[in-house]
Amino acid sequence: MNLKKMLWSAVLVIICIFALVLIFVIGNKNEEKIDNNSSNKKQVVVSNFASYDFARAIIKGSDKIDLTFIMGPGKDSHSYDPTVQDILKIEKADLFIYVGGEMEKWIDKVLESKDSTKNAVCVADFVETIEEKEVDGAEEEEEEEEDEGAFDEHIWTSPENAKKMVRGIEERLEKLLPDESEIFRKNAEEYIEKIDEVDGKIREIVDNKVRNRLIFADKMPMQYFIDYYNLEVSAAFSGCSTEVEPSSATIAYLEKLIKEQNIPVVLYIELNSGKVAKTIAEETDAKAMQIQTLHNLSKDDFDRGETWVSLMTRNLDVLKEALD
Ligand SMILES: [Zn+2]
Repeated sequence: MNLKKMLWSAVLVIICIFALVLIFVIGNKNEEKIDNNSSNKKQVVVSNFASYDFARAIIKGSDKIDLTFIMGPGKDSHSYDPTVQDILKIEKADLFIYVGGEMEKWIDKVLESKDSTKNAVCVADFVETIEEKEVDGAEEEEEEEEDEGAFDEHIWTSPENAKKMVRGIEERLEKLLPDESEIFRKNAEEYIEKIDEVDGKIREIVDNKVRNRLIFADKMPMQYFIDYYNLEVSAAFSGCSTEVEPSSATIAYLEKLIKEQNIPVVLYIELNSGKVAKTIAEETDAKAMQIQTLHNLSKDDFDRGETWVSLMTRNLDVLKEALD
C-alpha cells in the first residue's frame, strides 16, 4: 500500500469517528428535549367522557397531573379508532382509565402488553354491571359474532354508578399521588354532592310524573338510568347499534305507541341531528327533544367546559316534558 492510500484511509476513519460522535451527541440532546417536555407531571389518560370529567373534577387545584381525554369530544365511542400516537400515550401513561366492553374493544389489544395492564384501571369494576337488555320496539341487530355475557357498558348514566366511579377514580389517583390525597378527597366529595343534587331534582320529576315511558327514536344507551329511576323505555335500537336509520316498521311501531298513549316527547341523543325523531314528531303530536346520555359531548359543549353534572342538569326540562 502506498503512502497516499494509507493517508486517505486514515482521513476516512477520522471522518467516520467524527460523524459517529456527532450522531451520538445530537441523539442525546434530542432525548433531553423529550424528557424536558414530559416534565415531572404524572400522565393520566382517560378513554371516555364521564371518567374524564370525574378525573378532571378530582384533580382540580393540583398541578402534578397531565390529564388527556384520548378520544376527544364530538366522536362516537363505538367507531373510535386510536392513532399510533394515542396508543403510545396509553402505553406510557402512569394511569389509564377505561370502561371496556364491546364499545372499547380496541383497548384489549393495547392492554396485551404487560406494561400497560399494570397502570390500567377499568371503571366498570367499580359498579354492578348489567347485561345488555332487549328494549321494547328495538330492531334486532345482526351481530357479527354472539358475545355471550357481554355487559352493557353505558354504566355512567345512573347517578349511583357515577358516584361509585368518582370514588374509584379518586382512590386510584390517591395511590398515584399520595401527597395530593387531601385535594383529591375534598374535590371528590364536592363532586358527589353535586351528583346527589341533580339526582334529587330528577327524582322529584320522576315522583311527580304522569307517565312512565320514554321513547327514543334513536339508540338507547341509558338502561342504567332507566333502571335506577324505575322507568320504562321504547326505542328504535337497543343500546348502541351501528345502524343509523331504523326500518319503516320500527318507525310505524313508535308512531302508533306515541299516538295511542298520547306521549308528548320523542327523544334523540347528543351528536345526532334528530332526523328520525323529527319525522316521527311531524307524524304525531309529540315534540322532538334531545337528551344527553353523556356517551360523549359535542366539541362546543366541551369547549364551554360542560360536565356530567351540567349536561345531566340539561335533561331536567326534557324529562319534565317527556314524563308529563
Ligand atoms: Zn354506546
